[in-house]
Amino acid sequence: MSGAPFSLAPGPTARDARRVPAELAARLRAALPEGTVLTEEGDRTAYLVEERSLYRGQAPIVLRPRSTAEVAAAVRICAEACVPIVPQGGNTGLVGGTVSGAHEVLLSLGRMNRIEDVDPLNFTMTVQAGCVLADIQAAAEAHGRLFPLSLGAQGSCQIGGNLASNAGGINVLRYGNARELTLGLEVVLADGRVWNGLRALHKDNTGYALKHLFIGSEGTLGIITRAVLKLFPRLTDRQVAFCALRDPADALTLLSMARDRAGEAVTAFELVSSFALEIVEHHTGGQSPFTERHPVYALIELAGSDADGTLRPVLESLLEQAFEAGLVADAVIAESLEQAAALWRLREGIPEAQKKAGGSIKHDVSVPVSRVPAFLKRAGDAVAAAMPGARICAFGHLGDGNIHYNLTQPEGMEKAAFLARWEEMNGIVHDIVVDLGGSISAEHGIGLLKAGELRRYKDPVEMELMGRLRDALDPARILNPGKMVGLG
Ligand SMILES: Cc1cc2nc3c(=O)[nH]c(=O)nc-3n(C[C@H](O)[C@H](O)[C@H](O)COP(=O)(O)OP(=O)(O)OC[C@H]3O[C@@H](n4cnc5c(N)ncnc54)[C@H](O)[C@@H]3O)c2cc1C
Repeated sequence: MSGAPFSLAPGPTARDARRVPAELAARLRAALPEGTVLTEEGDRTAYLVEERSLYRGQAPIVLRPRSTAEVAAAVRICAEACVPIVPQGGNTGLVGGTVSGAHEVLLSLGRMNRIEDVDPLNFTMTVQAGCVLADIQAAAEAHGRLFPLSLGAQGSCQIGGNLASNAGGINVLRYGNARELTLGLEVVLADGRVWNGLRALHKDNTGYALKHLFIGSEGTLGIITRAVLKLFPRLTDRQVAFCALRDPADALTLLSMARDRAGEAVTAFELVSSFALEIVEHHTGGQSPFTERHPVYALIELAGSDADGTLRPVLESLLEQAFEAGLVADAVIAESLEQAAALWRLREGIPEAQKKAGGSIKHDVSVPVSRVPAFLKRAGDAVAAAMPGARICAFGHLGDGNIHYNLTQPEGMEKAAFLARWEEMNGIVHDIVVDLGGSISAEHGIGLLKAGELRRYKDPVEMELMGRLRDALDPARILNPGKMVGLG
């Protein structure tokens, strides 16, 4: 870190800022280029909506800096005025992490969207925080490399938001979360100083790995402005299969068999429940490759860099072995890229289909991979007992033990009455998850939505350590207050 040491002296905190001072916009305008400070309601609206429509932001000032220096200047001015700042990337987060209060300033990174450097020999790229994930993937591809972070919102989420929420997605099984894909960071701290940790080193054991504090901190410890990302060899051989199975235990055995046979070529292993496929067919026009219905399905992708297509026979022999063992009831292998994309749409269409199928109470949970079948059985029984008729839309990243365990309202039940039971149903599902050694948020983070659940389930010692870290880096609670570890 550069500049004066961080002051730990108690001073006024963001809680003392009862309202955004009238002169703040003028001070920000004087320090930042024209078009950076938005105060008109019409200009701010797009930044105040929230993906799930559970909240509505209220920030009277929206900032759109174009450089690290502008972010730093904005943070300094807000910190001096004791006015909190809510960082925002693509605003696709699912836990209300970018929701702003009436006494807060929203800082959007969207105009910091330059890919600054691609170094194919070092297998790295340097990007500004506001780069859209799909643009980063395309830039890597243009240099014959792969940036493997991949998720449904990749057309609009930004790398700063991906890192701040330690995003997961469909390739975690092979490449890890956003955390594992990051070599260096540049961060604007809560007092406006800049930490330059933008190192493109694959090895660096010079002290605490500070980058890991900021990754996954959801904007509560610093504002990520630039990052050095890891690249990988491009995948030229992709083989995709969609399998029908009797139950999740068989899916688990198939996953283990696939990893034994194909090693790290297993790039994705996704679970799709029968109800999830049904609503995708009904609401998105997707078509199951099977004539009969099955209790559960698995989408498997094997991928490698060998242009000769050596993975096709591996996948075929894996599925033959699985048939012989009675694990797989039916299966198809994509014959073309179009067919592979169509099979993926059966999985990726689930969130959209769910919106159309009625109200949903959502859970983004993980348990040890070997316990996923036990989790699904116990949660299924408990949900059925508490809310007969609730339709369970379970799907997601079986390979990571991460299941999106969503409940769709029972037929005939009022949506409002169903949603009124959100906390009760969360409690039922989360108690089982925790009992199985799992996590109440596998990849979406905490934000506002799960701050209460975090306090309920997290070890008190761990909560205290998190609070101390926050106090050390942001004693005045300027950055995204109320999110994750709350205000207190
Ligand atoms: C259809 C759909 C599918 C999704 N699938 C997945 C999935 O498979 N896996 C997954 O992990 N998530 C998924 N998500 C959730 C979401 O897309 C991810 O959490 C994503 O990483 C958020 O990026 P964003 O740029 O939209 O961040 P935002 O929503 O803008 O912000 C997320 C959090 O990060 C903070 N933040 C944003 N930018 C910065 C910054 N530069 N510095 C510091 N803090 C910052 C915000 O304050 C907020 O707390 C999905 C969402 C949708 C809508």
